[in-house]
Amino acid sequence: MSPAAVSDPGRTVLVSGNWKMNENHFEALRLVQELAAMLRVSGVPDGREVSIHPPFTSLRTVQTAVETDKVPVALGAQSCHHEMRGAFTGEVSAEMLAKLNVAYVIAGHSERRMHCGETDALVRAKVDAILVQGMRPIVCVGEVLEQRQSGQAEPHVRRQVLDALSGRSAETIGSVVIAYEPIWAIGTGETASVEDAEQMCAVIRDEVAKLAGPGAAASVRIQYGGSVTPESAGGLLDADNIDGLLVGGASLDAERFVSIVRATR
Ligand code: PEP
Repeated sequence: MSPAAVSDPGRTVLVSGNWKMNENHFEALRLVQELAAMLRVSGVPDGREVSIHPPFTSLRTVQTAVETDKVPVALGAQSCHHEMRGAFTGEVSAEMLAKLNVAYVIAGHSERRMHCGETDALVRAKVDAILVQGMRPIVCVGEVLEQRQSGQAEPHVRRQVLDALSGRSAETIGSVVIAYEPIWAIGTGETASVEDAEQMCAVIRDEVAKLAGPGAAASVRIQYGGSVTPESAGGLLDADNIDGLLVGGASLDAERFVSIVRATR
């Protein structure tokens, strides 16, 4: 691996809560109010940033609550369509999200790759749309268990990174977020060990270094996601190449999510 692929020690860590298809409009309001109350007391630690990703139906409500109460979280979305407008019934465009002050959009979550047939080419087109609208993509990559067991995890993840990011400027690549989410660890209660997560995040940073140089590799933020808990978060965040966490289940409980946001080893 390239010896130049090191993370900027001054980078801001990003902890993101992916609410998936949970929390109706009323429940979402209650959850963001609980978060607001807890973060008002404890604050977000220096050098950390938080994003929350409610379902589309709650984005406007959560945006209003966040902006009115000055909650120290960025608004995120879980996906978007790759076209800006048109006859795409049921879809939501990146432009629509940008108008709601969405800052981060997840692209290529494994559940969408698996259940909605999203290909690497489609994920790339979504990343284009998100960037054009001035938002930051959180590009999800990760292997299934069989790929890990057969030694294919690393080439698979390197290819996913390349497919989503190649052909862009170093500055753009350095500004995105990549979430390493081993599929076997998502929603299963099985977290990758800190060593395994760190090793694959180092591989991702190395791929970014090869693609866009050491500056982009230092500033790109690489999250780990997969059954993160308040107990596992501190150790993961302490690893050299892990610049944040993408949290599913535990982000639906304000107290657990705030513990993750504040976690230290
Ligand atoms: C996710 O939604 O990306 C995720 C990692 O979920 P969980 O934390 O529930 O495994």
